[in-house]
Amino acid sequence: MGQLKNGTYQVSTKGFKGDIDLAVTIKDEQIAKIDILKEEETPNIGGKALTALVQTAQGRNDFNVDGISGASYTSKAFNQALTLAKIAAQDEKQEATLTLNDGQYTTTVNSFQEHEGLPGVGKMTMLATFKDNKITDIEVPEYTDTHIMGGMAFDILAKKAIAKQSTDLDVVTGASVSSNAFRQALDNCILQAGGQPEIFAARKIKQRTPIVENLNTDIVVIGAGMAGLCAAIEATDQGAKVLICEAQEINGSSSTRSEGFVMGAGTKEQAKHGIEDTTDAFFEDIYSLYKDEPTIDTKLMRKLTHDSTDLNNFLMENGVTWSGVTHVSEKGVRNLKRAHTTAGLGAELIENLVQSAQEKGVDLRYGLAVDRLITLNGQVQGVVARNKLGDTLIIHASSVIVAAGSYTENPEMVKELNLV
Ligand SMILES: Cc1cc2nc3c(=O)[nH]c(=O)nc-3n(C[C@H](O)[C@H](O)[C@H](O)COP(=O)(O)OP(=O)(O)OC[C@H]3O[C@@H](n4cnc5c(N)ncnc54)[C@H](O)[C@@H]3O)c2cc1C
Repeated sequence: MGQLKNGTYQVSTKGFKGDIDLAVTIKDEQIAKIDILKEEETPNIGGKALTALVQTAQGRNDFNVDGISGASYTSKAFNQALTLAKIAAQDEKQEATLTLNDGQYTTTVNSFQEHEGLPGVGKMTMLATFKDNKITDIEVPEYTDTHIMGGMAFDILAKKAIAKQSTDLDVVTGASVSSNAFRQALDNCILQAGGQPEIFAARKIKQRTPIVENLNTDIVVIGAGMAGLCAAIEATDQGAKVLICEAQEINGSSSTRSEGFVMGAGTKEQAKHGIEDTTDAFFEDIYSLYKDEPTIDTKLMRKLTHDSTDLNNFLMENGVTWSGVTHVSEKGVRNLKRAHTTAGLGAELIENLVQSAQEKGVDLRYGLAVDRLITLNGQVQGVVARNKLGDTLIIHASSVIVAAGSYTENPEMVKELNLV
């Protein structure tokens, strides 16, 4: 390592939530000053830790300070940034330190695991293969993460790391714990191979120029939650060509994260367990609970309850297997066993429906967010959507089904509408 040249070096690394940009001033071989130019960490955790890390690094002239408990990703990103600043100040050719020893390396790190519907700590194991100083293969053969969220994020990140030959990987929205586990594991494998993860993180590959593409289909469905997938499957069954635009890169909908209770009456699963029930009784019970609500739509409630047997059959025809039927409360009319359950909760329901939709030919596109509807003379004619590369897709369709979920995913609307 050479001597450090005086100067201010701007460096950027990935923190827990977004980029951490620092300006590190070096004078007479010492850290003279560290300015935080940008950061998006959680204010009370990572944000607070950053301020403390800056003070420690400045005070001790230390390029690798001890991590702060509870903010390990932020601490790691901070130290990576300092290493990058040091490398820049040494004025050595970065490519010279890119060397990786050929071979396959493995590591196991903490990751995500759901326990009784709550997030918890699990494990993931990575196998990374390097050849001729390149990342040639990344596999995650074992993990506790939810298959259609964390598992999908691992695939996405592996493809990106190999394509970019970089560890400068954004967190996959909705799977941040799994994404950070992936980044940690890849860094570990690079270290084992004699490489420096910081150098790989600094290799930002130029993005291609976004394109504009025109597509035609019969029906566009916005959102791949329970509503969107069911609508897409039904439309496909009726002979339509269907494209689903799903904003997230993984199945991160409320449906996936839900308990997966599907209410229904007069179903085969109830009959299997000797439960006698009718859709009329279902309506009367629900009505008795909500009849005093000022915005109640009795017609819709009647449809919801009366169609529940058919919906239940539809789900079973599309791969759903019930693990049983239970009540949602032991009190009053909710004590009746109408809540159909799956062993894998909402994630299992969605996994079954995604598989069925894709087998039936639904064009399900992840990471494609609809920006606006195309209208002509007051009629909807399609949508304009944008993918993660910034490409614009103009999708012409005779019908658009909006199944983008409720306002609960919009913090500003939650604040506005939930006054309590
Ligand atoms: C923790 C939890 C537990 C729950 N448990 C139950 C339960 O047991 N039983 C029950 O009946 N209900 C339950 N609910 C409620 C239930 O999950 C929701 O009512 C239901 O999932 C809504 O389904 P949906 O398809 O309408 O929307 P969502 O499942 O929210 O799907 C909407 C999809 O649209 C996508 N999207 C949004 N905007 C765009 C855009 N511009 N372009 C493209 N895509 C977009 C989103 O990314 C999302 O994937 C629960 C909810 C939560 C959060």
